[in-house]
Amino acid sequence: MELYRLGIREAIELISKKEISPLELLESVFQRIDSVEERIKAYVTIERESAFNRARGLENKPMEGKLHGIPVAVKDNICTRGVRTTCSSRILENFIPPYESTVTSRLTVQGYILAGKTNLDEFAMGSSTENSAFFITRNPWDTERVPGGSSGGSAAAVAADECIAALGSDTGGSIRQPAAFCGIVGLKPTYGRVSRYGLVAFASSLDQIGPLTKCVEDAAILLNIIGGHDHHDSTSVAMSVPDFTSALGMDIKGLKIGIPREYFIEGVDKEVENGVRDAIKRLESLGAVPLEISLPHTEYAVATYYILATSEASSNLARYDGVKYGLRMDGENLIEMYMNTRHHGFGAEVKRRIILGTYALSSGYYEAYYRKAQQVRTLIRQDFENAFKEVDVIITPTTPTPAFRIGEKTRDPLQMYLSDIFTIPVNLAGVPAISIPCGFSGEGLPIGLQIIGRHFDEENILKVAYAYEQDTEWHKRRPVL
Ligand code: GLN
Repeated sequence: MELYRLGIREAIELISKKEISPLELLESVFQRIDSVEERIKAYVTIERESAFNRARGLENKPMEGKLHGIPVAVKDNICTRGVRTTCSSRILENFIPPYESTVTSRLTVQGYILAGKTNLDEFAMGSSTENSAFFITRNPWDTERVPGGSSGGSAAAVAADECIAALGSDTGGSIRQPAAFCGIVGLKPTYGRVSRYGLVAFASSLDQIGPLTKCVEDAAILLNIIGGHDHHDSTSVAMSVPDFTSALGMDIKGLKIGIPREYFIEGVDKEVENGVRDAIKRLESLGAVPLEISLPHTEYAVATYYILATSEASSNLARYDGVKYGLRMDGENLIEMYMNTRHHGFGAEVKRRIILGTYALSSGYYEAYYRKAQQVRTLIRQDFENAFKEVDVIITPTTPTPAFRIGEKTRDPLQMYLSDIFTIPVNLAGVPAISIPCGFSGEGLPIGLQIIGRHFDEENILKVAYAYEQDTEWHKRRPVL
């Protein structure tokens, strides 16, 4: 058996029955990395030595944790103590965090093995990993195409079986969009569900950490572990975390699914639309009740996001000044040192956003841009609240098209921004959403189905996702590498 193909649930079952050992599983995953990573380039840092040490340490121990010996890849904007955390940026190229993020601490308690840190668009700003300062990650289904972004390295690593599961972060779609492009499962939890302590901040009112996995059950397993209050992050909500795996397998008869008419518009690829419409029919045959709904402010979401996210980014990224940590360049005086450091340390997209955000926040423009965007954000959140008075979940395509070609959108930032049109409103509203595979295009590229839920109702979206997954075969297909 090719052990690297396993998901968490299957692997843990075999380990607990002692049919395989952590070391055997890790060896298989690293063999896979050795044979495909050159073509995929999912990892910025591969933690071979420490991973093997840890596996040896777990080898003959009684199984205590829920991830005993499971190799997981972690996006390189999540701090890992002693392990370089770069955000795929020159400015943090040699940054070694002195502390561990809460999410990885929680995985450690459960016995996970860090396989490595995955590539992303610099500071998570992008939709393709083309903004990484180091290299582009390739889509395992077609290596001439992007894996999506910004968690493109995590998604590609999972899809190419270079790990058993991964963590990513999602500010405007960065878990769900790459999951859709790579044919895997990606879950953005409710804002406040998961601690961001140790996540390098991009846009703090939107950022959330979540799982990228080979199946829905694995996403539930990881959310069980990483979810819940953390006194290190005051935005993490003190609410009990249900056992998300117990929602799986419940039937969805009578469940109302909303289909927003604003998401089936011109510009949506026909094959994507057909895939999603077929999925809706499939859910109907399982007893769900589809209802057309409206989210009338959808058209303003991208513009709103690019005011708010860039404003927050301009303030969050002010800390990279060459003094506290990261890159430091020389200069004749302090101001020149700042300027040289930031000039050499940041890439073009990050600079573009800092400039945009600084402009939007500047006095005189604040009212016209930032405040206005906050008001529109409220309207978008209310759209969802109104819809959820009538339906239990909302179903949309995750992205308007399947994975695009490398280089196809780099010259036109607006085109790139528009690829997140269906994921961004979810972050603005703070609600949870999952992307699961729902078909393939004629060219063999995966298509993603997005299921959106009420605040803190990950249970329902996982339940619907699981019911659909169990009734279909899409998630079983693997790219040929
Ligand atoms: N692609 C979006 C952006 O460029 C979202 C990124 C993200 O979710 N981190 O901002």
